[in-house]
Amino acid sequence: MSLEEQTATLAGARDRPVRSVVLRVTRSDAARRWLQIDAVPIHKGHGAATEMVLSFIDISERMRAQALIRSTLEAQQAANERLAALNRAKSDFILTVSHEFRTPLTGILGFSEILRDGWTSADEVRELGADIHADAKRLSRMVDEILDLDALLSGCLSLTYDWINLNHIIANTAAEIEPRHPRHPVRLMLDEELPSLRADRERVEQVIRNLLANAVKFTPQGGAIEIGSRVVGNTARVSVKDHGIGIPVDQCENIFERYWRSQNGPAKYAQGSGLGLPLVRQIVEMHGGKVWVESELNRGSTFHFSLPLQATVERHPDRGLMVTDEDG
Ligand code: ADP
Repeated sequence: MSLEEQTATLAGARDRPVRSVVLRVTRSDAARRWLQIDAVPIHKGHGAATEMVLSFIDISERMRAQALIRSTLEAQQAANERLAALNRAKSDFILTVSHEFRTPLTGILGFSEILRDGWTSADEVRELGADIHADAKRLSRMVDEILDLDALLSGCLSLTYDWINLNHIIANTAAEIEPRHPRHPVRLMLDEELPSLRADRERVEQVIRNLLANAVKFTPQGGAIEIGSRVVGNTARVSVKDHGIGIPVDQCENIFERYWRSQNGPAKYAQGSGLGLPLVRQIVEMHGGKVWVESELNRGSTFHFSLPLQATVERHPDRGLMVTDEDG
């Protein structure tokens, strides 16, 4: 019953008894309480009621307990739904992974059979060898991703901090990716003044490699990829921009969840395990940084991640501008 209805009901108590009307009232000390009100009109003779017996019971504690039970139940239900979704995602993951494993395995089996049968020229042997190598690398990358994420999430892996030059890492990783995808030119937009920072070199490389690989994977041929670095506040920010298929707004958070892969649009048909971005997020957050995406469907996406710069910036005699810990 709304407050208006309850008030109207109480007003009606002049003619007939009213039971258990609940009202929220504010006391003179500003405390808000819940009252349960019962009203019984007293009739003397046949006329209108001349008196009324009113009882007020403070049921604030009961209401609080009920609200607590309700919110606990809702939280429990939300947790159950999350578990069910994770379970579904895990089953999807097993299906995806077995499919993803099967594709390169089929290649390896087929190509090696041809080699075994021996009816191949030297050129063909080289070509088949390269195909087998590429398939085996794909398999190995997937196994690494699964093990890595598991180890990172269970806290079994720690970071090995070093002074790193983000610009070098970006340039090297782009140079690694570009020859394999000549139809996706990678443009570098690096801030030359970016200071060195303390981070795990291999893990940061992994982050940049994953973001660049996704940019290439989800961008039609010919679409340029841009990767830039700059200082924003006391962080170093890296942005990877593509002109690809984009991500629906309501999926921009999901993509960082384990095993999550888009089930609609062209992304559904791309190869992948749904582990790349969770891994990216885990690594960035372990460094005290943040990762997020801005995207527009059919126009492209920009993934940003930022890593903290330490407090004092000083110019290192050999290594240019560099950031040091406050205690040196
Ligand atoms: P994978 O690429 O192996 O499926 P990720 O965790 O790297 O797994 O990405 C999860 C999902 O996020 C992808 O399946 C895709 O739907 C979406 N996604 C990631 N990067 C991009 C991008 N640059 N453009 C469009 N969609 C993307």
